[in-house]
Amino acid sequence: MPLRVAIIGGGIGGLVLAQLLRIRNNPDVLVQVFERDATAEARDQGYYLGLTGETVALLQPTFENLPKLAELLKDSRSTYTAARMVDANHNILVNFPVPAGGCFINRVDLRQALLQGLDVQWNKQFVSYSESLEDGAVHIQFRDGSTATADILVGADGANSPVREQRAPAVRYNDLGVTTIAGVSPLESASPAIRTLVNDGLVRWLGPDGHTVMMFPVFAVKEGQQSQLMWVLSYPGQRADWEGKFSGSGEDVTDEYSESSHARQALMEDCVARTQARFAPDLADIIRATPTEVNLFGPRQIYSTEVAQVRTLLSPPCGRVILLGDAAHATTTHRGLGANTAVADAADLAQSIAGAAGDSLALIQALQQYEKVMVARGIKVIKESVQVTGSIHSSGWSATWIRPAFLRVINVLIRLFV
Ligand SMILES: Cc1cc2nc3c(=O)[nH]c(=O)nc-3n(C[C@H](O)[C@H](O)[C@H](O)COP(=O)(O)OP(=O)(O)OC[C@H]3O[C@@H](n4cnc5c(N)ncnc54)[C@H](O)[C@@H]3O)c2cc1C
Repeated sequence: MPLRVAIIGGGIGGLVLAQLLRIRNNPDVLVQVFERDATAEARDQGYYLGLTGETVALLQPTFENLPKLAELLKDSRSTYTAARMVDANHNILVNFPVPAGGCFINRVDLRQALLQGLDVQWNKQFVSYSESLEDGAVHIQFRDGSTATADILVGADGANSPVREQRAPAVRYNDLGVTTIAGVSPLESASPAIRTLVNDGLVRWLGPDGHTVMMFPVFAVKEGQQSQLMWVLSYPGQRADWEGKFSGSGEDVTDEYSESSHARQALMEDCVARTQARFAPDLADIIRATPTEVNLFGPRQIYSTEVAQVRTLLSPPCGRVILLGDAAHATTTHRGLGANTAVADAADLAQSIAGAAGDSLALIQALQQYEKVMVARGIKVIKESVQVTGSIHSSGWSATWIRPAFLRVINVLIRLFV
């Protein structure tokens, strides 16, 4: 009988794992993906993601099966070559070196491309699992009352993972006290100064009072598409500051794509006022140009799992239930590494499963080895991301004087040595 692998979650990590297992065309492995969304288009995933050159290389083996994905990731209009930090008046503080091959991609397009050739079971919301000593299998329960049986259960179900809740209840996803709102505006709303800054990549403006704005361009790649500018404003804040004011009560505000349908205009005015008071005026012009009904996302809080809690995943080591991506180590978005890390996890896990599929003992050892690598990678990413989140939202004299001086020194060192 083939090894039955049940993947909970048809997000980037789950789909990449399924595709990487599929290309091996291994009759010993049977993959099933269960996703809570009703259809591929059920949820607005209107965000853009930055994928690094390393991630694109990890996806390369799928390109033969997924020509659409290859087309999207290789399109030169989507690739980026720069990442920089500037002050509130567009003065460059640091230009970071960017490895070649990275690109910006729309999440909807990415998901559609990754779905090619997969038979995902939609409308299957995972509720719980039980591990049977009798048959060594994992039995899975879904909200609609149906069940499934697998030899390995992969929790690829994102930051609020119910699989993790059961597998490792100590791992929590904590509010870091930073509020974020994002939007997508027409690129033509950018002034010549901003246009020059964002033309080749991602720019982060560091402003006073812990306010920061990040932007990157999304150039039209399809017929009839308009070139756009993705912006993300974030600042120190609590959910209580905006709940009820900009968001309807009862919405799942911890969900990545929860989108306030209430008081959008007030939210927009608040974003414009905050930006206008702290940054060069042309930044607020871009935010003001956002089509509020379709392209304004948030507000939401920034969360992270804690390093010490992620370590608990290793004791006891995994059996037949294993996590990947945000389910294991969700963190802040400010290093832009979450999706990239989920792909790296998926690539390692695919190799572990495919390499040991026929041998039960070797398989458990391979999964435990994967888990060690995944936890170490997740911890590194959490540390880096939380450190960046703290630094870009800091305020006071150190943010006004020490931070820019420090970044300028880094810039010089990069120019000299990299
Ligand atoms: C605003 C923003 C910008 C970001 N930008 C970047 C970036 O530029 N670069 C980057 O690398 N990362 C970025 N990230 C992070 C990135 O989106 C996540 O790290 C990444 O999506 C994690 O992938 P995943 O597969 O682990 O989880 P997800 O992509 O969250 O997928 C989880 C899937 O599981 C499904 N699911 C959840 N619960 C259940 C259930 N009970 N039953 C069945 N299915 C379930 C969900 O519907 C979803 O489809 C960003 C995140 C945000 C919020």
